[in-house]
Amino acid sequence: MPDGCICEREKVAGERWLVKGDSAMRTIEHWIGGAEAAGASTRSAPVWNPATGERQAQVTLAEPADVDAAVQAAAKAFEEWREVSVVRRARIMFRFRELVERHADELARIVADEHGKVVSDARGEVVRGLEVVEFACGIPHLLKGEFSEQVSTDVDSYSFRQPLGVCAGITPFNFPVMVPMWMHPIAIATGNTFVLKPSERDPSASNFVAQLYADAGLPAGVYNVVHGDKVAVDAILDHPQIAAVSFVGSTPIARYIYQRGTAAGKRVQALGGAKNHAVVLPDADLDFAAEHLVAAGYGSAGQRCMAISAVVAVGEAGDLLVDRVRELTERIKVGPGRADGSEMGPVVTPQARARILGYVERGVEAGATLVVDGREVSVDGHPDGFFVGPCLFDRVTPDMDIYTDEIFGPVLVVLRADTFDEAIDLVNANPYGNGTAIFTSNGEAARTFQRRVSVGMIGVNVPIPVPMAFHSFGGWKDSLFGDRHIHGPEGVSFYTQAKVVTSRWPHVHDATGAHLNFPTAH
Ligand code: NAD
Repeated sequence: MPDGCICEREKVAGERWLVKGDSAMRTIEHWIGGAEAAGASTRSAPVWNPATGERQAQVTLAEPADVDAAVQAAAKAFEEWREVSVVRRARIMFRFRELVERHADELARIVADEHGKVVSDARGEVVRGLEVVEFACGIPHLLKGEFSEQVSTDVDSYSFRQPLGVCAGITPFNFPVMVPMWMHPIAIATGNTFVLKPSERDPSASNFVAQLYADAGLPAGVYNVVHGDKVAVDAILDHPQIAAVSFVGSTPIARYIYQRGTAAGKRVQALGGAKNHAVVLPDADLDFAAEHLVAAGYGSAGQRCMAISAVVAVGEAGDLLVDRVRELTERIKVGPGRADGSEMGPVVTPQARARILGYVERGVEAGATLVVDGREVSVDGHPDGFFVGPCLFDRVTPDMDIYTDEIFGPVLVVLRADTFDEAIDLVNANPYGNGTAIFTSNGEAARTFQRRVSVGMIGVNVPIPVPMAFHSFGGWKDSLFGDRHIHGPEGVSFYTQAKVVTSRWPHVHDATGAHLNFPTAH
């Protein structure tokens, strides 16, 4: 019974099985064909512990030959996996679901140690990923086709969907469990095999998931992990045996992935960056709005694609709102992700910290009011951690780069708008269209907002409107390249292709000769 393996591993001190290499520098390797694989590469990248600033491991960076090895394993596995009945695929997903839930705390700790987010937040991302696995458990129902009887005399017509083959996923650092789970459970449940290239900044969770799949009884080669950078990504985009690529990350890379992947003839969905606005009307409950804005702005140190990063305060909402947001922001407890009581952890790398601090400097220089200054935050016992305290800017204007750019850090900017129309125009002028929220007690205003904004996911008094797994997730404009959103029904559609059969079983051969006209129903 596969579960037995998990128990064995729990006895061998923590995460030893996750990595190989000498004790001085652990090495995180690929997972190909059902086992760890060192690969052919001599290149590696550091994996930091953002809370201490230490380099805690190194991750192998794949060469094209390593990507090819994973694709060959996946292509071989596809030949058998495609023939496995949909009910057996679902049963493996059910077992995988149980294992992820049982090991959710371990997964959350792995995420906290490499990403930096607090453990309770990491636990939340595991739960949101698990919801996609639960959706995939319903695959027999999701793959039901359509049937039309007697579309013409003695003729029936029906449709069904089949897997594409080898699919690949390329994912960002900020949700190392949840974002890959937007992809692989659905790709695999629909009968494909999968090659994941996770972020090289927090790679361990993907190997842990590989082991859980193996323990759930998934055949070797159905789920593979290749660690790497641009070299691995380009090898995926160009590989002739990869049928489809799902990407989640920043907008410039999403655009590149879409262009190069589709030019190579692949099906591509590429989700990009964001600058999510929250519009606060004067009739909103401002205490409620302030609490939610602070949670959505600074959770995970602002490193969420659905974080609220720009608040548009309309009319007289402005002064009161900024005051309340300031009070709450000043109370946020910054600390290591593993420590009880920490509400906001460090950012992911020293480079990310330097970039975020650069934006804060430039915001001050550009004339915005820095209401809360988190630049000098210090965390006891962690002098070298990549901490940035929460920063709050007021009186920001649309020309400032703290507004135009996705900062991806704990920096919340407030703009003032005189009217509701002006606020909507601001949302729509922004090149991103991932998420947005409105805070109001006026139903008509909320309805107008949801109808007029050019944004894919909208919250009404809900600051982070991430759809549940049985709906699909995706933005508009520069936040998504491709025509299908991720997970939910569009995910099933993305990973499958439809066939329509028109069928006749004539009981007698009525020899009336060959008719060359285009066939119509009769
Ligand atoms: P990123 O774009 O730097 O990296 C994403 C992936 O692309 C990684 O696997 C990385 O190895 C690879 N990559 C990086 N540079 C590359 C290059 N030049 N060529 C080819 N591949 C390359 O993103 P990130 O910093 O890891 O994550 C943060 C970004 O992801 C933010 O912009 C955030 O908004 C976005 N994001 C979007 C969503 C969404 O649903 N729209 C969800 C999560 C994160």
